[in-house]
This record gives sequence, C-alpha cells and structure tokens, in this order.
Amino acid sequence: MSADQKETLGFQTEVKQLLHLMIHSLYSNREIFLRELISNAADACDKLRYRALDDDSLFEGDSELRVEIEFDAEARTVTVRDNGIGMSREDVIANLGTIARSGTAEFLKQLSGEQQKDAKLIGQFGVGFYSAFIVADEVTVRTRLAGSERSAGTQWVSRGEGEFTIEPIELERHGTEIKLALKSDAAEFADEYRLRTLVRKYSDHIDLPVQMPKVEEQEGEDGEKRSVVSWETVNEAQALWTRPKSELSDDDYKAFYKHIAHDFTDPLSWSHNKVEGKLEYTSLLYVPARAPFDLYQREGVRGLKLYVQRVFIMDDAEQFLPLYLRFVKGVIDTRDLSLNVSREILQQDPQVEKLKSALTKRVLDMLKKLAKEPERYQEFWSQFGSVLKEGPAEDYANREKIAELLRFSTTHTDSAVQDQSLADYVGRMKEGQQKIYYLVADSFNAARHSPHLEIFRKKGIEVLLLSDRVDEWLMSHLSEFDGKALVDVAKGDLDLGDVEDEEEKKAQEESAKAKQALVERLKEQLGERVAQVRVTHRLTDSPACVVLDEHDMGFQMRRLMEAAGQPVPESKPILEINPDHPLIARLEGLEGEAFGRLGEVLLDQAIIAEGGQLDDPAAYVKRLNALLVG
Ligand code: ADP
Ligand code: MG
Repeated sequence: MSADQKETLGFQTEVKQLLHLMIHSLYSNREIFLRELISNAADACDKLRYRALDDDSLFEGDSELRVEIEFDAEARTVTVRDNGIGMSREDVIANLGTIARSGTAEFLKQLSGEQQKDAKLIGQFGVGFYSAFIVADEVTVRTRLAGSERSAGTQWVSRGEGEFTIEPIELERHGTEIKLALKSDAAEFADEYRLRTLVRKYSDHIDLPVQMPKVEEQEGEDGEKRSVVSWETVNEAQALWTRPKSELSDDDYKAFYKHIAHDFTDPLSWSHNKVEGKLEYTSLLYVPARAPFDLYQREGVRGLKLYVQRVFIMDDAEQFLPLYLRFVKGVIDTRDLSLNVSREILQQDPQVEKLKSALTKRVLDMLKKLAKEPERYQEFWSQFGSVLKEGPAEDYANREKIAELLRFSTTHTDSAVQDQSLADYVGRMKEGQQKIYYLVADSFNAARHSPHLEIFRKKGIEVLLLSDRVDEWLMSHLSEFDGKALVDVAKGDLDLGDVEDEEEKKAQEESAKAKQALVERLKEQLGERVAQVRVTHRLTDSPACVVLDEHDMGFQMRRLMEAAGQPVPESKPILEINPDHPLIARLEGLEGEAFGRLGEVLLDQAIIAEGGQLDDPAAYVKRLNALLVG
C-alpha cells in the first residue's frame, strides 16, 4: 500500500496488553495523562532546539517553542499542541504503534493478575503517550516533522482497541497536535480551572511555556464589545534545577522527578547542587524508591539527562555515573562541554571523567546521609543493595566509602534481612578477634546452617552470612575494612586469633597428632578426590566438612565464569574431620571395604552439606544403603 493512502494497522501485541493494564490500574490517577502529554511535547521541543543549533531553518520561522492547550467543554475535547520536532510517517508508526523498550514484553508476561492491578508497576514502562486512552475514547494525532514539506503531515487516529489508522495530510505548522475525545465519565477534564491547576501541578518546573487561551472582552473603536483571544502562559516555565534551592519545596522536587524518571512513586531522596570553579555544573540527582524491571538487563535504560548551558543534549547519558549507580536518575547541566557533543565525544572528553567522579561522590554522600535513617535506608537497600555491591570491583578508589554503605545478614541477628553494616560488626567484635568472618552460600538458609559456623556459634563469634549472586565477587574486591581483614570461613586454615587460649590450642595440636594415622589412611582411600585431609576444630556437631584452599575460587565465582564461557581452573576440596565425633571414632576402628565405604560417605556428605554436586551420586546412594543395611 502506498504512503498516500489511509491505512489501518494493528498495535504490537504488547501495546494492547499495556493499554489494558493501564486503563484498569490507573483509574484513580487519571489526570497523569496531561503530565505525560506535556512531557512528550517538552521532549519534542528540546529535540528541535538541539537540532536547530546546526540548522535554524528547522524552526520554520517560529523559534518560540511552546505548548498550547485548548479544550471544548461542549464537544468534550482537550487538545495539546507543540511546535517541537514533530514526527514523520515512519516515526508515527514506530513510536505510537509499538513499545520500543526491550524486555517490556517479557516483563508484562510475568505479571500476575494481582500485580496487574498495581498502579505502581505501570510506572515502570514510561508508558507516556498511551495514558491518553485512560481518559479518551478516541485520540487523534496530527504531526509533521520540522523542516519537511507541508504535505508531509500525518494523521493518526485510534480508539485504543488494537488498531489505528494512519493517513497523509497537509499541515501548515510543524510539531504535533494531540486531540482527545474524552470518555463521558472524563468530561471533568474539559474545564478551564481543572486544566490550569493540572498544568501548574505538573509543568511548573519545565523550561517551556505552557499556554492556554485567554478570552477578554474588549471595546473596539466603534464602542462594540467583542471577545479577544490571547495566549497566556500558565506555568512557571523555568527549568527546576536552575532555581535556587530555597525557592523549591519537596513537592517541586518530587514532581520534577516524576517528569524525568517516568515514575509514579515519589523518590526516596535527592541531592541538588550548583558548583562553580574548576568544574561548572548543576546537578540534580535522585534515588528512586523502586527498582525498574530492567535493572539487571544489559540494555536497560540508565543515566542522566544531559544539558549543556541549559540546552537539552541527550537522555540516558550513561557516561556520568559508574554502572553500580545506574539506578540514579537526574539531570546534569554543565558549561564544561560544548553544545555539539555526541555520545562518541563524551567517551573521550577528559571533562566527562571529572564530572563523573564528582557526581559519584555526590551520590555516595547522598546515600550516606540516607543511611542515617535506617528504615528508609532499608527500603533503598532492598531495592538496590545488590547493585551497589558491584561497586568495590568497579570503583576501587571509592571502595571504602562503598563498604560503609553495605548491609549484611549475620549470625548476630540470624535474619535474612540485610541490615547490619560492617561498622556494626566491628563494634561487636570479641576481645582478641582480629578479623571479620564471612560465609558465602547459595541461600540464606544454606548459609545459616553451614557446618562451618559450628565453632563460631560455640564461641559467640559473629559471621556475615552472604547469599547474593554477587557476594563472592564483592568479597574478592574487599580485602579489609577498618584495618581488619575479611576472611572466608570456608577457605584455608581456621585461625581464630587470640579468641582461642593457649590451652585450647595445645589440646587441639595433641588431638591432631593422635589422629595422624587415620588422616593418612583416609588420604590414601580418597586419593584424587581431595587435595588434603586434616583434623579440624571448627566442627562441634558434624563429623566432617570440606574447605577450599585460601586462593581457590569459590563456587559462586566458578558459576559466573562458567556462565561467561571462561575456563575455570580445577580445584579439589580439603576434607576436614572432627576428631571428637563418634563417626570418626567408628571410622578409626574399621578396616578394608567398611573403612572405604564410610570414609567416602563422609566426604560425599560434606560436599552435599555445602550445597555442592557429587560427581557420582548413584555411587553415594549405594554406599549409604550398604551402611544402612549394616
Ligand atoms: P517516551 O516519552 O518515554 O519516549 P511516550 O510513550 O511518551 O514514551 O512517547 C513515545 C514516543 O512517541 C516518544 O519517544 C516520541 O518519539 C514520540 N512522541 C510522543 N509525543 C510526541 C510529540 N509531542 N512530538 C514528537 N514526538 C512525540
Ligand atoms: Mg513520554
């Protein structure tokens, strides 16, 4: 079909799902459609202003960028019009017929019926334009790309029911006009006072005049009264971050956050700074209250809105913050970059590095401040903690600051809630304890019940319980805190430092000597399956456990490397036996096949208790059954 005819096209399946979800979940919050439409108009004006830096003919003689809002109470319509960049026919099909963000489709599929009713979730998509259908039966978009022929206009019409029509039209003005035919129960929006209030509420902070017609009675020269219509700017029209902090209320900051972050929930915290000197910039950085669904997807949206001398340059400028702070939203406006920067230039510009390190510091300071309110910090941690844990590996210079912000589960609370800091731990260290102990396992429960904790529990020494995917990676980049070494209790020889007294140590050495012959026999039996066999004092209830050599890679790292297709060095466990356990005493008295059977089972069980996999599980079952039959 040629481009000069009217066509009917279908929405992408996800759009239909999204529309359905939105209309049902946002019913009590319908007014946000206006914020979304104004926000799009503002983006379109930003884009035109930026393109026109190179070619001001794109303004087509009308460089006063603005948004106009009109209504007709009788006809029950509201119209939002901008003179921004506009759209070509292809743009319209791509932007208003599909959802561009990858991952959205899968996310939608995962939502359960209950979740679909949750209005908060909907904020995660940046659904913007489609919110028009919350209040409208029918939406008509007329648009023309700035700089194109008058005849290159496009009209798009849809009732939001799976289809839209698209046809070419003549348009005098460039930019976009969106006309909403309101549903009968949404007539309240075709009202002067209501619209003006909403405009003030949602767009005072954007740097663009939003205008509404003002009708005045004027007396002409002939003495006749007539009504004259003029456009009146309704909003403040000043970019929020350029205004002094003292003029801004919490509500102003929250409204601006919703505008830039496409989020419906208030942010947890923000930091607004103006810096003059070697670097000149204004930044307004926010910590959201909820993680977006694509936080862990490589292609997820991240980064700040970049402005240079108040001119919008780009969205999602990811060069200004490290990856482990990718949840931060906000604006950076600087004089230190030129107006014609591109993503490529940003990657090389040394100023960008400086700005990045300054902004990183700002965010870490903001989090430190937030941490003084434990309850709110816990909200942050539960959403973004495992992202922040990537920090010490990525940002060596700030690793101490980041370490202060980390929160863990520990044997002190024995709770899966990660709310204990390293400083809390250090404050509780026992006299003579020189190290910070931690244990990594597959899950919180596996960690909590690990045999490695037996001696620590007995002596009342606290151990951090780590079970997040990134924990081993984190710990491999965090060797000490506050001058104290961080030690994995499942690796290397156990050294409790001065917590053990001389007598205990002596008794241990003696029992180790007494079991020397058993150790040798076991080593011979187990052969290639183990690197070493030795006597341990870390166990009180279990007969045996496996540990890794100090420099061996733990299981989490192995899995990460394997998943990344990297070669993983072979490593064998060290089997440690508990000299005081009755099974060990029994083993000592056995010979031949019976000795071999029990010896192997002890190793098998120790591996299983660690959450490890047996090479030959069937052999284990056979041995165990033989033992059970006796
Ligand atoms: P978002 O604003 O998050 O990109 P929206 O659903 O609000 O998502 O808008 C989808 C896309 O439609 C925009 O990215 C933009 O390309 C286009 N669009 C919407 N409104 C306008 C407008 N007034 N002028 C030009 N393009 C627009
Ligand atoms: Mg939008």
